[in-house]
Amino acid sequence: MSKKITKTTLPLYIGGKACLAISGKSFRNENPATGRKLTDVEQAGRRDIEKAVVAARKGFQTWSQLTGMERGQVLKRAAALIRERRMELAKNEVRDSGKPIAEAPEADIDSGADALEYFGGLAADVKGEHLDLGPEAFAYTRREPLGICGAIGAWNYPFQIACWKAAPALAAGNSMIFKPSEMTPTNAVKLAEILTEAGLPNGVYNVVHGMGETGHLLASHPDVDKVTFTGSVPTGRKVLKDAAATIKHVTMELGGKSPLIIFDDSDLKNAVSGAMNANFFTQGEVCSNGTRVYVHEDIHDDFIAALKERTEAMVVGDPMNPKTDMGSLITPDHLDKVLEYVRLGIEEGAHLVTGGEKLTVKGFEKGNFMSPAIFTACQDDMRICREEIFGPVMSVMTFKDEDEVVNRANDTEFGLSAGVFTQDLTRAHRVVAKLRAGSIWINNYNLTPAGVPFGGYKQSGIGRENAAMALEHFTQVKSVYVELGDVECSY
Ligand code: NAD
Repeated sequence: MSKKITKTTLPLYIGGKACLAISGKSFRNENPATGRKLTDVEQAGRRDIEKAVVAARKGFQTWSQLTGMERGQVLKRAAALIRERRMELAKNEVRDSGKPIAEAPEADIDSGADALEYFGGLAADVKGEHLDLGPEAFAYTRREPLGICGAIGAWNYPFQIACWKAAPALAAGNSMIFKPSEMTPTNAVKLAEILTEAGLPNGVYNVVHGMGETGHLLASHPDVDKVTFTGSVPTGRKVLKDAAATIKHVTMELGGKSPLIIFDDSDLKNAVSGAMNANFFTQGEVCSNGTRVYVHEDIHDDFIAALKERTEAMVVGDPMNPKTDMGSLITPDHLDKVLEYVRLGIEEGAHLVTGGEKLTVKGFEKGNFMSPAIFTACQDDMRICREEIFGPVMSVMTFKDEDEVVNRANDTEFGLSAGVFTQDLTRAHRVVAKLRAGSIWINNYNLTPAGVPFGGYKQSGIGRENAAMALEHFTQVKSVYVELGDVECSY
């Protein structure tokens, strides 16, 4: 009997419809909090990628010929459908990623809808320039789409990543082939269904599932014009190499080890809130997290006392319970890696103030739970202060003066984000100007509105997502010189 799509199949989505993989392969997707199977995911091989590229090329031909206004209307309809299905999508995200339902509707689903609405509004405004060259000539530029965009996502914000990539790419007239993380593949297909329902022509947004090999096939395909990647620095390097073979456009949203600087005049309650958001949101699995927390030595003890009390009051457990603050880490291997960093921190001489223990949650014995960890007495050269842990582990260090802390904050190969808490406006802006990071918050942390560019300095990335400038990364400029006079020629 031939294979069919059933309720437990998560299909590929190519050419406007759900389909089985030609490869004949599939893999298991499970809920990290329970270890239970969610779906059998169809795994794309070489022929599936070929099929997606053919569909995306066809989709591009139709879509790029529509007006920006027409494209924008589709994106805005999709945003409205997402808002209608907010809780259903949020629950998918919680089941796939283990993050708490207290976060997902707003941080994941609304953030995705915002991107589609925002770029839907901008689609009619993608334009070139008129360049005056005197009475006898002028030039103009056309801002044109790139073609097929290959997109590869990470597992921590699956729906948000899918939307942040699709919205500007599609607004500008491109088509897309998206490979979600193999660990969180569900909502990429839901987004594809919603876009089709909103009127997106077939083939404009396609979803292929698989591991690194599927990502490699996509990133190295000669007919893919651009690669937009979200993931770790080491994988980013491989994807860049693949893209280099045919000189593709690239956007890289990579990892970080961001500093959060808390001056002695900070509002202590807000500073503690900021540090907690910067370390424990989504189990600490956030690229922009401020995991190196520099606290002025004069307020260190008060800061730690308040932080410890509030951290120990956090509820870790069933991600679907609205009272849960922290859910399950993504996999047992990842939990082991994070716990290994806790062990390493102790070995390196940092003081574990609280947390850092594996937790067993009743009814969720197969989940990957741990208590949020706070280290003090950390040194800049400790591995826990230099490497991205990607879990709920905060490293606190003290500092004395501004120049010293700025130098220490910048001493990293990463440059995704940073935070500054102070009541002194002049100091805040002076420090921000010296920090080498792409996204910086003053007196808050980890907010990413659709209209504000997001992306990294140094090894944290290339290009920006969000904001009008993201359209520049999904378009190319054609310059057209127009002669109104005679052609000068000495022959
Ligand atoms: P990862 O690099 O392991 O995987 C990311 C994606 O790349 C996955 O879809 C994976 O299947 C795919 N992949 C793996 N090998 C590949 C290859 N050779 N070619 C093409 N694709 C390949 O990252 P992850 O563990 O999924 O996510 C965590 C990382 O993502 C962290 O470093 C985090 O900081 C980063 N991240 C960055 C941002 C940002 O916006 N800067 C956002 C979220 C996550």
